[in-house]
Amino acid sequence: MEFLSLNAAQFPDFAVGRLNIDIDAALQSAPPLEHQDVSPGGVWSPKSCVARQWIAIIIPFRDRQKHLDILVYNLVPYGNKTFNKGRLMNIGFTEAQKHDEFDCFIFHDVDLIPEDDRNMYTCSDNPRHMSPALDKFNYTMLYKGLVGGVLSFRGKHFTKVNGYSNLFWGWGAEDDDMHKRLFAAKLSVERPSITIGRYKMIKHDRKDVSPVRLDLLKTSIARYLKDGLNTLEYKLVETRLEKLYTRIIANVGDPPKNQTEHPL
Ligand code: UDP
Ligand code: MN
Repeated sequence: MEFLSLNAAQFPDFAVGRLNIDIDAALQSAPPLEHQDVSPGGVWSPKSCVARQWIAIIIPFRDRQKHLDILVYNLVPYGNKTFNKGRLMNIGFTEAQKHDEFDCFIFHDVDLIPEDDRNMYTCSDNPRHMSPALDKFNYTMLYKGLVGGVLSFRGKHFTKVNGYSNLFWGWGAEDDDMHKRLFAAKLSVERPSITIGRYKMIKHDRKDVSPVRLDLLKTSIARYLKDGLNTLEYKLVETRLEKLYTRIIANVGDPPKNQTEHPL
């Protein structure tokens, strides 16, 4: 038997290696049946790379639509490479105001479930970091400048810090950048006590950690007025009124080819 070993240079640098495939979860959920970068018939040429070959994938099947949906969903990386939480927050803020006149905006990780109903989902006179105590960290505040998780803002304060940075692609540090913005804009952050600001976090893996997040943090204060709400660009794809929430689907654009290069 012969083993072929590929050398690392043959993998794209965004390859993450072993993937965590949960077939049971996939069978129970409904994978998306469309992708904004895929044309009818399944023609896909992602803008973020130059194809070395033009490939036809031939799949024999009968009566297994669900299998086909799951396979296709796993073959086309649905936006994973283009996750930009800061942009999504800024888009949410901008779009929400087209729907109503809100007094207060709460930026909320999807996986944090509040454990104490005295933790008020309202705004006070200062931005408030509502999630200082997570079960994951034994309900202690991990570090002093933590503002990640759940953060409430008056609209005028979010505008004053110029929203989130648009430059953080992948996981990490956009919240620490926000902490520096708050400091630069001379806004102080309130917190409930750790007996009240308690949350349980739904367990998950961490993917695409940003390799440049700590470099970006060095320029937060110099950058904040020229990177944020006032430079936000996106394409609204769809606004859908779901039963319990409004889903805003937007194209946040593509990360720079070389992640160490950023425009500011
Ligand atoms: N998030 C998401 N999909 C991702 C990565 C992040 O929806 O692939 C959102 C989600 O709201 C999540 C938040 O961004 O709660 C923060 O990311 P994550 O939970 O991975 O960060 P951590 O738990 O390390 O704070
Ligand atoms: Mn999380």
